[in-house]
Amino acid sequence: MIFDKNLEFYKLIFDYSLDAILLTSPEGKIHRANDSACKMFDMTENEIISLGRNGLVDPTDPRLKDAIRYREQYGYVKAELTFLRRNQIPFPAMITSSIFKDRKKKLWSVMIIRDLTEAKEVENSLRQAKAENEIMATHDFLTGLLNRRGFMKRVEEMMGEVSDGFDFGLLLIDIDYFKEFNDKHGHIKGDYILKDFAEYLKQSLIEDDALVGRFGGDEFIVFFRNTSEIELNNLAENIRSKVEHMDFSSETEEINLTISIGVTVFPKGVDTDIDDIISFADSNMYRAKKVRNSVYYKKMDITLKDL
Ligand code: GH3
Ligand code: MG
Repeated sequence: MIFDKNLEFYKLIFDYSLDAILLTSPEGKIHRANDSACKMFDMTENEIISLGRNGLVDPTDPRLKDAIRYREQYGYVKAELTFLRRNQIPFPAMITSSIFKDRKKKLWSVMIIRDLTEAKEVENSLRQAKAENEIMATHDFLTGLLNRRGFMKRVEEMMGEVSDGFDFGLLLIDIDYFKEFNDKHGHIKGDYILKDFAEYLKQSLIEDDALVGRFGGDEFIVFFRNTSEIELNNLAENIRSKVEHMDFSSETEEINLTISIGVTVFPKGVDTDIDDIISFADSNMYRAKKVRNSVYYKKMDITLKDL
């Protein structure tokens, strides 16, 4: 009687488990499949049995060989594998499987399979949300440029990369009288100008050499990984003059703008803090602001003790 009752218990577990349970032989023959297995594979028990293990697992899954080898060696395995539903539709699953002997010393194995489709979907959307958060944390929403945080992080990485050649350089660019512009033309038009200006900066610089960021408000920053005093001053002057002659007019109003630029160049291999370099460029920009629509350059005094 007790034996019968236990049998009943085992049958209940087999029938009502939400995980698929397969009773198999270690070489891959399937003897029994429970209801959850039939639902998971979208097949009848007989179909599952006739396919055998090799017909249910994706043979191209590179983890398969390792899982089989591990089970042979240790008698059990826990692994993530790709399985195939009816019509060869792949799905991710977690399996646990162990090999055991019955009373007659015959070898059997049991495989419990848990469908990970939903868990993977959640995992993917979390990963995507994380990537989107990372972009939002490092980029400026209005212009799509790197924001201050993203810019500083990337510049520090670039300064740490070994590279030969000329100096590092930095431009700090600030639009002149932009507050007045907003007051006169409205904040929305101001936003369009910031977007257009960001686009112009991106277009006019070579991506691999220059990193552009919006440093805040109407202030933009550009880092160069390989430049020289003459080259950077010419480039800054060129940008200033192009912006001066650029037409930002709307249908109703004629609009022109000017910018002021602080320029700094500093040698590679010198242990200088990027914050110091930016504040030096900022003081150059402040000098340019005294004139407006101008470029100001002053060499950063890096003394031998820094070298
Ligand atoms: P200056 O020539 O000295 O630079 O004068 P300014 O009026 O441009 O002064 P400042 O650079 O200090 O002020 C920046 C102005 O930029 C203040 C604000 O009205 C405007 N601004 C900052 N962020 C935004 C923004 O996201 N959109 C718009 N439309 N305007 C902004
Ligand atoms: Mg300004």
